[in-house]
Amino acid sequence: MSDNYLDLRIGVVDGTGQTGYPLSEKLLKLGAQVIVISCMRTDKNNDKLERLKAQGAELEFCGAYDNVEILSEIFSEIDTIVVARQGQANMTENNMTENIHTEILKAARRVGVRQFIPSEFGIDVCLIGGNMTIKEIYEYAEEIGVLVFSTISGDEVHSRVAHFNGYDDDGIYFRTMFNKPFCRQLMETEKVTVCGITDTTILDHEEDGTPIFPPSYSFRLIGEIKNVSPEVIKEKAKTNSDLITAVNDIEKYPAMAEGNFVIHRGKGEIFDVDFDCVNRDHKLLRTRFSFGGASFNPPGVRITDKCIECGICKKVCTFKAIEEGSPYKVVGERCDDCGSCLLACPVDAIEQSLTI
Ligand code: SF4
Ligand code: SF4
Repeated sequence: MSDNYLDLRIGVVDGTGQTGYPLSEKLLKLGAQVIVISCMRTDKNNDKLERLKAQGAELEFCGAYDNVEILSEIFSEIDTIVVARQGQANMTENNMTENIHTEILKAARRVGVRQFIPSEFGIDVCLIGGNMTIKEIYEYAEEIGVLVFSTISGDEVHSRVAHFNGYDDDGIYFRTMFNKPFCRQLMETEKVTVCGITDTTILDHEEDGTPIFPPSYSFRLIGEIKNVSPEVIKEKAKTNSDLITAVNDIEKYPAMAEGNFVIHRGKGEIFDVDFDCVNRDHKLLRTRFSFGGASFNPPGVRITDKCIECGICKKVCTFKAIEEGSPYKVVGERCDDCGSCLLACPVDAIEQSLTI
């Protein structure tokens, strides 16, 4: 997507969905003209629709996402269509996503929409900062509370526990004392990684010793940081209550004045596990995010055109992460990178995952 997107009218199909809502919010914050397109107003999406409207979005309803006639009418005033419907979420038929996209594309072509971005091709993460806002990323981390922060010290990696203490549009904040090795390493490298997991206090085991993980999620973030002066922290704390404790700490511990940092650019993943399928019908849901101009690679292994459609990989995948097709497809958000399909494929058609 070009840099001049602020001049464009951007339609977000399924603009109140898991991906569409944060995307619409982000685009609105960036000053774009956003048209949120939903099937209909329901009890479930009503609040989100109203919040987006209050932020300046126009709302359009198409009845169904395969209604080409109505979609064409809606699209006639739109330059760019982003289909933010989460491809596999809530789908019972493997090919439903493709059918919906085909109809939406038909409508877009009919009225000459300039750009069409279907969700299976990914969305321009440099523009939208992934599919989560900084606030949401912060809230996932806050739910865990204490996190592990790792830095580079010479040729070693050092970890310690700490926590975030606020966020705003500039990033996510944390603090330490200027004299600690942690602070010195941060200053030197301007890099940090952060991770944590919910529900780790009681880890039961099966009779054979297999650990039992309750439904939970882990969080990881790879960040670039900047030191923030005490003056800036004090100024921000006037309108950001989360940062008031940082100001109080500076009063209490003067060595903290020079130890405030913001992760201004980052990428990461929420790795949500439900191994016994208590809350859904598959074990994993991996949601990647980025902010501050960072981007990320999609998760999971990748099936190439060498695939002969034998179906062996689908049989060995216990994560329900492989769908039939030509070639077969991996649903990256469900893929654990367990490697079973890589070993089983008779023609080496499956490539290892990319790093985040
Ligand atoms: S095992 Fe290999 S060849 Fe067979 S369907 Fe899977 S990717 Fe294709
Ligand atoms: S790596 Fe494991 S989880 Fe991922 S698609 Fe292959 S078998 Fe499934």
